[in-house]
Amino acid sequence: MGFFNTILDLIFPVNCVSCNKSGEILCLKCISNFPIAERETNKWIFALYDYRHPPIKKAVWLLKYKGKKKIAEIFAESLYGKINEELSDLSIFENFRNPILIPIPLSKTRLRERGFNQTELICKELIKLDTEKIFTLERNILIKIKETEHQARIRNRKQRLENLIGTFGVINENKIKDRNIILIDDVTTTGSTLNEARKILKNAGAKKVIAFTLAH
Ligand SMILES: [Zn+2]
Repeated sequence: MGFFNTILDLIFPVNCVSCNKSGEILCLKCISNFPIAERETNKWIFALYDYRHPPIKKAVWLLKYKGKKKIAEIFAESLYGKINEELSDLSIFENFRNPILIPIPLSKTRLRERGFNQTELICKELIKLDTEKIFTLERNILIKIKETEHQARIRNRKQRLENLIGTFGVINENKIKDRNIILIDDVTTTGSTLNEARKILKNAGAKKVIAFTLAH
């Protein structure tokens, strides 16, 4: 599908999702002017952009549901900058070193339907950018066992938390024992999905777990 999309992009020129200028699916000018996310309530979650801004929503949607992989590449550049910035402090003050990147997984059914996991695409792009080898990527640690009702559709906080119980599992536990972990997700709203993933990883022996997302 990626190859097919590339061919299509060559035949049909792309326009920026935000300013509509022809050239890139998300132009440099627009992405550098995207509003920055307000601080998450969980201090270990770092979000890049403000999800209420419609072009950001649209870009995430194109990545997630239309397989526009170029979006992952463009977002990853900003995210890499943000991770580097935060890690320079965290490594000094909290001894957060040699972290492992772990993408929030999709269930097997969802992965089959979609053909790819958007957070994994972002992670792969981050690895390409990480020439200094600040982190490594592990895709076979956190797995999604249970298909959950879309979190954003559940209003009640208690129900949202209940919906997530038993969602994730950990395999290859030995790989994360006493290791620092960076979870990667596309969007966080209440932080409950990331909280659940973090809890499972910590129970499996991980040291510190923080998270970065494209938007909040
Ligand atoms: Zn633009």
